[in-house]
Amino acid sequence: MKNWAGNLKFQPKNILAPSTTEEAQAMVLDHLQKHQTIRMRGSSHSWTGLIATNDSFLHLDNMQGLIGVIPDKKLVRAKAGTKLYLFGEEAFKHNLALPNQGDVNHQSVAGALSTGTHGTGIKLQSMANQLQGLTLVTGKGDILSIDEDKNPDLMKALSVSFGSAALITEATVKMCDAYKLKTETFAEDMSVSMSKYKKRLSENRHLEMFYFPVGKWSLIKMMNETTEEIPSSSKIEGLKEIVLENWLYEGLNILANKTKSYGRLDSFMRNFVGHKTSVNWSHRAFPTERSVRFMEMEYNLPFEKFEEVFEEIQASIKKNKFETLFPIEIRYVKGDELWLSPAYKRDSVYIAIHTYISENFRPYFEEMQKIFKRHGGRPHWGKWHTLGHNDLQQLYPKFQDFLNLRKDLDPQGLWLNDHLKSLFKVPS
Ligand SMILES: Cc1cc2nc3c(=O)[nH]c(=O)nc-3n(C[C@H](O)[C@H](O)[C@H](O)COP(=O)(O)OP(=O)(O)OC[C@H]3O[C@@H](n4cnc5c(N)ncnc54)[C@H](O)[C@@H]3O)c2cc1C
Repeated sequence: MKNWAGNLKFQPKNILAPSTTEEAQAMVLDHLQKHQTIRMRGSSHSWTGLIATNDSFLHLDNMQGLIGVIPDKKLVRAKAGTKLYLFGEEAFKHNLALPNQGDVNHQSVAGALSTGTHGTGIKLQSMANQLQGLTLVTGKGDILSIDEDKNPDLMKALSVSFGSAALITEATVKMCDAYKLKTETFAEDMSVSMSKYKKRLSENRHLEMFYFPVGKWSLIKMMNETTEEIPSSSKIEGLKEIVLENWLYEGLNILANKTKSYGRLDSFMRNFVGHKTSVNWSHRAFPTERSVRFMEMEYNLPFEKFEEVFEEIQASIKKNKFETLFPIEIRYVKGDELWLSPAYKRDSVYIAIHTYISENFRPYFEEMQKIFKRHGGRPHWGKWHTLGHNDLQQLYPKFQDFLNLRKDLDPQGLWLNDHLKSLFKVPS
């Protein structure tokens, strides 16, 4: 068994695939009796050891689709295993959409939301903030239904809890009216991007910057609501782009690794990027196809630290001569109140470091992580990092409250694997 990137490999004893909450509950009760543990996966799109287990491995691939919709409240209730692409299309049938999304949609609702998955937009929060209600199976084998009105604190504690306290089987999500987005992408020098990012943030619904460190240029992506028509050629053009961009990108990365001619290949890439615009419904505009495998580390930092941190990143890359054709991705997210959300109580910038999958990512990621740590960075729960219990205690004011609650809901440690035990300092 392995995750999307293939950096995590493990061999579970059993695979559990419940079709209902009650079936999941029966499996939990059986495991409690036998003193066995369970880890659950969504679509295995995380890089950290969250899903790894040699015990029982549970998925909700049999729990897909919408359960109900309350149109006047713009609420959608979904089975928690629903893949985001299906969730988006099904909600669209009711003229509803998520206010923001990340850049792929293969994850599951539970997996994506409960790790704090985010898109970009300084006035928009991470996706877990759309959760209005959850049905859970706790580590004691109870079925628990909670919602924003009756259990606001539990919702704040469990919305980002990555299956460490309970299994999510159903989720109620607050949507907005379906909307179209116009996407504009182009390349420019990073110095220009840095001088314009604040203005762009105030003028655009979504701003994302991909910084290519070898040539010091950036790919700017801005998205805004529009009422423009979707061009009839958009589907076929989109397909051509996906094939070309992914194949070409993979080829360039292989070549760069072999020949070490990063500079030439990087400037070829820059010249290849034209000025493009496209229009589509939001749930089709946000996701891109990512068939080239890569390693990723992403940290959340206080928004006001961005420029200082970015200068240190550039200086470190220069000093250490790090080279990769993969960009550093910069996104912005509004702060929130979810206990374990990396954006807890702060408007944030997310900075993500990538390498091609066969590159030696460690020296580069470790140096970047030192910078992020110095500035109070909080790692994305699903992306590579080496922080431990003591770091997390310092970074999250509600960490101990979460651990106490977690223990109440899972006294036997049914949901814990080695990775979680080390984060939570639970003896093996
Ligand atoms: C190509 C790619 C692009 C990405 N883009 C973004 C992005 O734009 N923004 C961003 O923030 N992140 C992004 N990510 C990270 C990704 O969104 C998260 O790692 C997310 O958690 C993966 O969702 P998943 O369904 O695959 O969950 P998994 O990786 O399978 O699991 C994640 C966690 O959720 C838990 N979990 C799964 N199902 C349940 C359940 N039913 N109940 C309780 N817990 C559960 C798992 O145990 C695990 O702890 C990307 C990842 C990849 C590979």
